[in-house]
Amino acid sequence: NVRVRFAPSPTGPLHMGGVRTALYNYLFAKQLGGKFILRLEDTDQTRFVAGAEDYIVEALKWCGISPDEGVSVGGPHEPYRQSERKPMYRKYAEELIEKDLAYYAFDTSEELEAVRERAKEAGNANFQYNYITRNSMKNSLTLPAEEVQKRLESGEPYTIRIKLPRNEEVKFEDMIRGWVSVNTANMDDKILLKADGMPTYHLANIVDDHTMEISHVIRGEEWLPSAPLHIIMYQYFGWEAPQFAHLPLLLRPDGNGKLSKRDGDRLGFPVFPLRWENKETGDTASGYREQGFFPEAFINMLAFLGWSPGDNREMFVLDELVKEFSIPKVSKSGAKFDFEKAKWYNQQYLRKLSNEELATLLQPILEEKGVAVPAHDTFIRIIDLVKERAVFVEDIYEEGHFLFHEPRGYDEKSVSKKWKGEESAAIVRDLAARFEEEEFTAEALENNFKAYLAEKGLGFGQAGPVLRIAVVGTMTGPSAFEMMELLGKDETLRRMNKTIE
Ligand code: GLU
Repeated sequence: NVRVRFAPSPTGPLHMGGVRTALYNYLFAKQLGGKFILRLEDTDQTRFVAGAEDYIVEALKWCGISPDEGVSVGGPHEPYRQSERKPMYRKYAEELIEKDLAYYAFDTSEELEAVRERAKEAGNANFQYNYITRNSMKNSLTLPAEEVQKRLESGEPYTIRIKLPRNEEVKFEDMIRGWVSVNTANMDDKILLKADGMPTYHLANIVDDHTMEISHVIRGEEWLPSAPLHIIMYQYFGWEAPQFAHLPLLLRPDGNGKLSKRDGDRLGFPVFPLRWENKETGDTASGYREQGFFPEAFINMLAFLGWSPGDNREMFVLDELVKEFSIPKVSKSGAKFDFEKAKWYNQQYLRKLSNEELATLLQPILEEKGVAVPAHDTFIRIIDLVKERAVFVEDIYEEGHFLFHEPRGYDEKSVSKKWKGEESAAIVRDLAARFEEEEFTAEALENNFKAYLAEKGLGFGQAGPVLRIAVVGTMTGPSAFEMMELLGKDETLRRMNKTIE
């Protein structure tokens, strides 16, 4: 019975790495006929960000990743928000105290700070609260029983810490990394229940994974150091541990460190699926959806950040990913993000669409820009001519705006490079006169143009760009003769004559 969960903390928008984790969980579950659960880990109230939950739900929806259970859909293990499950965690922490596998700790944060400071001065930057040091701290293992009782009764704040075994190897087999082994000497007696009565991530996570019958935990590599602690917790509770798979990091394009939320827009591309706006601070960050990415392209690209089918196939829609995905083929090393590749994927998906489909997608974009939508046949012909150059639907307009309306000026770079004053004007004048007599097909216009070059002894480079500038205002774009045929005789000649007026 495969049951996996995606368990984000609503501390802000979900970034690409988070979406990839959700995606891999989803693919794994669907392939094996299992369930994908969306659980919100919101026990850290200080890091709560308004709007983050809605964002997470909407982002997954845009990607086509639909939870079988969880926040927004409900299910047999409700509630799926940890803040609403708060009352159930304490008893588990107390159960471990009864078994002598956890203890009360009364050290204040100032005291802990001072101990850490002293350890640092002694050259030990990484203070651990464990069997070596806990003896000198204030807790129910060191204080007399009556005193512990008194402190608890007087309402003194306390935390509950796990009591890790002394000098023991903790081992587990990660589905991606193989055997992982850590000695408890290098581990911390982590807090399970905080002074405010809230569970820590560790306690809530284990209790929920167990009670929600999670079979496989697939999550980011940043949680690998916590896994040995989680293994011990499962042993302490006497529960069967799920299987673990820790996914490789997403790295910045230069391979220099991990791609983080803070990299949003700074590196010239979005790191979030959807545009984000923090209602309190007013901060905004751009998203793939708003940049014009197809969700299919975004998902396809993300799937390949850390996984590949092992051959040279690259195009997979969600259902195909469900069939092909495999955890053993996930790489151990970090995956470098490449925005150019993301755009390549989008272009591939754009090219799969028919002209009619593209017209339907482009129409609202034109309307929003206040650009008149051409008559249907013309619209389709423009799309057909320009789409090769487009990565995003909007590019069809950007790359071919001069086919939707008269160019709004001449491209400066083209003019300074290719327009030679009266010499160029003469060429345009000659060509306009010749085209007046011509049948307006691309082929006829091209033949006519070539005959003109031969007659005058001109090279293509002297007259071609000049003609383009006259007709569409710039020297780049689709075939000039195709464009002229599309614009028709009247419009083409009007533009040419206007240039040399
Ligand atoms: N709440 C954790 C996060 O934000 C979940 C870690 C896990 O999957 O165990 O990533």
